[in-house]
Amino acid sequence: MNKNDLARFSRQLLMQDIGYEGMEKLMNSKVAIVGCGALGSTQAEILARAGIKKIKVIDRDYVDLSNLHRTHMITEKDAIDTLPKAIACKKWIKEIDSSIEVESVIDDFDSTNAEKFLNNVDLIIDGTDNLESRFLINDFSVKYNIPWIYAGVSSWYGNVMFIKPNQGACLRCLIPETNNQNESCDIIPSIGTMTTLVSSISSNLAIRYLAGNEVPYGVLFVIDGRDISLEKIKITKNEKCPTCGLHQYEFLEKKISRNVVRICGTHAIEIRPEKFLNIDFIKKINKIKEKFNVISINKYSIRVQRDTIQIVLMNNGLGIVEGINDVNIAKKLYDELFNIII
Ligand SMILES: [Zn+2]
Repeated sequence: MNKNDLARFSRQLLMQDIGYEGMEKLMNSKVAIVGCGALGSTQAEILARAGIKKIKVIDRDYVDLSNLHRTHMITEKDAIDTLPKAIACKKWIKEIDSSIEVESVIDDFDSTNAEKFLNNVDLIIDGTDNLESRFLINDFSVKYNIPWIYAGVSSWYGNVMFIKPNQGACLRCLIPETNNQNESCDIIPSIGTMTTLVSSISSNLAIRYLAGNEVPYGVLFVIDGRDISLEKIKITKNEKCPTCGLHQYEFLEKKISRNVVRICGTHAIEIRPEKFLNIDFIKKINKIKEKFNVISINKYSIRVQRDTIQIVLMNNGLGIVEGINDVNIAKKLYDELFNIII
């Protein structure tokens, strides 16, 4: 720890259960945060400030006005600029502590990349908003014996559980199956107090664990924000649990088609390129303007419009066509924009 670190963390070094040794452990830890929305951005901010020096954030989405009421580390300008959430997170983390190694991934998190993205981390933190992604993290965690923290918010309620794989209950011991195919399609009511509270509790567990302390695992924390109550429920490890009992990793092994996908809960279609690229939009701005109305442009993304349809294209080639349900028209527009740019 250098002189600057000693000054920066002078108060945290005084914390019982952290101290100099715990602080060194925190600084040598690597975490992956899946999702960089209301939960993920807050967790990332807390962990960055607490001295975690290697942080990976994974999110496909971009900042939208509807995120601002509850999401840390984003601004109104980020929404106007259609900045990818993973980039907004990275930008702020570097502002908090420029010595942090931040890896930002703009991509869907799914079975085709989970092993690549979560490889070689000490802890995985749930900043997602759907059960499918959580079951995928859970599969990875049990298969590779890497702990993770489940964190979920809906309305005034929150859930947090530290999952120590192959020792305590996993997520599927608690929730055996997804409720239905479209569970993530519902727009979840949310408020910043609850996402911040749940982020804080999950980050607290992360910090205590990474600093070398025992943490309660297989215990579900249920938070009720209406009367500010916290209930602790011990979850029993189920010997017949498909993941940690039978070691079947169906979410990790799931074959998926991911070239053109309807984004549920919206009139939007996601289109992926054959392979990820590194596109320079600025160079082609005049050609783009000949064909589309340019709403916003930066080095990470461009938002263009034609009639009532808008296209957001990330610099890796990932595109979201908004305001449309017809996959063929969406694909045609995406191709037209893509071919101007590459
Ligand atoms: Zn289990």
